[in-house]
Amino acid sequence: MSEFAQRVVAWHAKCGRRDLPWQGTRDAYRVWLSEIMLQQTQVATVVRYYARFLQRFPDVASLAAAPLAEVMRLWAGLGYYSRARNLHACARRVVSEHGGEFPRDALALAKLPGIGRSTAAAIAAFCFGARAAILDGNVKRVLARHFAVDGFPGASAVERRLWNLAEELLPQRRAMRAYTQGLMDLGATVCTRARPRCEACPVASTCLAFRTGRVAELPAPRPRKPVPTRRVHTLIAVHGDAVLVERRAPTGVWGGLLALPQFDSAAALHAAVRTLADGARARRLPARRHAFTHFTLAFTPHVVRVARLAPRAGEPGAEWLPLAQIETAALPTPIRALLRDVRAALALAPAPRKHRSEGRPSSQSWRTTQRRCDDLPGTRASPDG
Ligand code: SF4
Repeated sequence: MSEFAQRVVAWHAKCGRRDLPWQGTRDAYRVWLSEIMLQQTQVATVVRYYARFLQRFPDVASLAAAPLAEVMRLWAGLGYYSRARNLHACARRVVSEHGGEFPRDALALAKLPGIGRSTAAAIAAFCFGARAAILDGNVKRVLARHFAVDGFPGASAVERRLWNLAEELLPQRRAMRAYTQGLMDLGATVCTRARPRCEACPVASTCLAFRTGRVAELPAPRPRKPVPTRRVHTLIAVHGDAVLVERRAPTGVWGGLLALPQFDSAAALHAAVRTLADGARARRLPARRHAFTHFTLAFTPHVVRVARLAPRAGEPGAEWLPLAQIETAALPTPIRALLRDVRAALALAPAPRKHRSEGRPSSQSWRTTQRRCDDLPGTRASPDG
């Protein structure tokens, strides 16, 4: 066993994490679920989602049998939604092609949707003791520092070098579980991005970055590219105690989730409002921003109260979501936050007089409806309807 692996294994025995809910199991379904959830997501966040998900889908068969919309609902808030779509597709493949059992081999695992080379290795090592190397973001950082590997770890030549190192360092089979977990723990708790605790590190004496004072500069950051901003207008149409939402297409941004109708221009939005409710006037709220990996979404919400349902309510993919359900519906986090604000503003505003559910509302109730929209944050300053 390499000296590096020996030290990591010994350190894990003394200082490794042991209390995470997905540790101590060799159930490939549970390990796979935790590995997918942990990609680009903090442990503290995953713990909550993991328990809720397992309660609803205790095994791969129940997940495969569920509709995608239900999976998206339970995933909502975790972000990176392609993971949830792949999770569902993977469960179906495991059931249809592997008789409900995950393959034991890392190469076969890596052929399943959403399982990359590192995740496949982690599942194979934890569940089947396979001798396969992991290389997630944390491990890349540890290796780049320890071996003073220059260059951005996402660049293909640098990544190849890191993979070679990861494979050279592997211990024998019997130590694979402890080594894999130890390496993960080292990256997550000691060799952290911002404040590494080199004084507590088991491999400090052989770490080149530590010895040469280059810890802060390694690994090299992603080369900077300007991040484009996409500007859109979103419609918050409120009818009674419900808001109009649309199911997004299965792929792309927020794929498969419920979201507010979105338009490229304010003019297009107002045209939609006119078909939705004759004479209604949308009010603009302050713009919000949400950062995705490759672009920033700047969205300007417009709110309108709809007194009566119009044909748009029956469009395929559109539905009226009760505001009381926004915490549990499959909504992206920024849209849920926006709807929380809208719901709070409506709760503070005076209730409108009752009117008939069909036909144009009375002038009194219409004025009250407009007043409630005016009471939403920011609407008075910038009417644009
Ligand atoms: Fe990371 Fe410091 Fe350990 Fe080197 S000595 S691997 S920089 S924690």
